[in-house]
Amino acid sequence: MENRSPREIWDAALGELQVQVSKSNFRTWLEKTVGMDYRENRFLVSVPNTFVAEYLENNQKSLIEKTLINLTSQPGVRVTFQVNGAHTYPVPKLMEMPPVPSVPCLGNLNCGYRFDTFTMGNGNRLACAAAQAVAASPGKLYNPLYIYGGVGLGKTHLLHAIGHQVQARHIQVVCMSAEQYTSEFIAAIRSRKTDEFHRRYRSAGMLLIDDIQLIAGKKQTEESFFNTFNELHNSGRQIIIAGDQAPKMIPRLDKRLRSRFEWGLVVDVQPPDIDARLAILQAKASQKNIPFASTVLEYIARRDHHNIRELEGSLNRVIAYSRLLNAAPSVEIASQALGNIGERAPDQPASTSDAIIDAVARNFNLTAADLKSGKRDKETSFARRIAMYLLRQNNGCSLASIGASLGGRDPSAVTAACKKVSQEIASDSHAQRRLHEIQKQLNFYPIKSNR
Ligand code: ADP
Ligand code: MG
Repeated sequence: MENRSPREIWDAALGELQVQVSKSNFRTWLEKTVGMDYRENRFLVSVPNTFVAEYLENNQKSLIEKTLINLTSQPGVRVTFQVNGAHTYPVPKLMEMPPVPSVPCLGNLNCGYRFDTFTMGNGNRLACAAAQAVAASPGKLYNPLYIYGGVGLGKTHLLHAIGHQVQARHIQVVCMSAEQYTSEFIAAIRSRKTDEFHRRYRSAGMLLIDDIQLIAGKKQTEESFFNTFNELHNSGRQIIIAGDQAPKMIPRLDKRLRSRFEWGLVVDVQPPDIDARLAILQAKASQKNIPFASTVLEYIARRDHHNIRELEGSLNRVIAYSRLLNAAPSVEIASQALGNIGERAPDQPASTSDAIIDAVARNFNLTAADLKSGKRDKETSFARRIAMYLLRQNNGCSLASIGASLGGRDPSAVTAACKKVSQEIASDSHAQRRLHEIQKQLNFYPIKSNR
């Protein structure tokens, strides 16, 4: 039984959220909220106005729910934001949102992650086409389909889009992250119910596994997953896997799993180029039914965004500002809203690849020329490897272009270097710290699991 009042629980949640979001984010969106009610797994939070309610609903809901679940130990807690009537701001007519058509959602598929909300463009064309093909004829074309790439590039979105389409044909879809698989497997071992656990997964019509890298090195879970994989594959059921790297680049991944992941089709997603960013913004603005002048969307798209999640965040920020100012979005409002997010400092080199190489060289007290040279001492080689890894992981550059920008090296040397860094950061805390330090300098977000 929960002894704390809703207000006390919420205050504890705020304490946790404060360390998880930025200071300004916390001040703008969370500070003036109050826990009102908590019953039957519904947690009601009072917020000062509709902007805050909408922002939290669209951007922070899952983080908040995760926090409440941790605090209450109730896995089913859902949060609702209610505007405290007395403080409601008038919302301009222009900005009013039409009701979103309700999409039936089963299982744990995200309702918004469908093919019709996914914009195909340079960077994800192949992955999207493969996902659509597999959704149209599961088990027939590429089995498994393995999609990999950096964070925020649409892997989870594609996985769920396949899930929705297949579920609509009454095929039982099981979708989960490798982390969830692991924790459920461990719980099943503890309660001696592994048979039941395996039956559940092995009876699925289609299996979608996200963030597969999280299984690597967990021997027993890998073994269990290996058997699940075989059983589904042998009976022609489709398996789709998403990971942050290609199978052969995941450190400590069981060799047998690696080879099976490579059986079907392995495709990557790359960061969107400017045209793709603009197309995504246009689609998102029109889904939200908010009129945007093309100059404003172009202004947002031209900023450096490392991934689509950040891009969407910028769009939401501009919308929130326009609402606060009661005006249609303009370049001026966008520039205020985004501050220096994604803005290039005047002395920053024009190419992000050059910026990465420079930053790495500086961190090691070397020069970009050293990294491009034939020098092979320990320090220079390590720095060069890190530069290659960052160009690949955070910037999504092709192997050939990385080789070319580091003194004309062979793509296979780039593959070997990236693999070595993956191993180094898994086993050597000094290497890991060094990499994180450079990532921080470059404002890169650490790669982490989402969902
Ligand atoms: P990943 O799993 O690769 O880290 P997600 O699938 O979670 O990335 O995508 C991050 C966010 O960007 C999600 O809100 C998703 O809907 C959105 N997104 C990613 N790619 C696209 C796209 N091509 N079109 C529209 N939205 C996208
Ligand atoms: Mg994901």
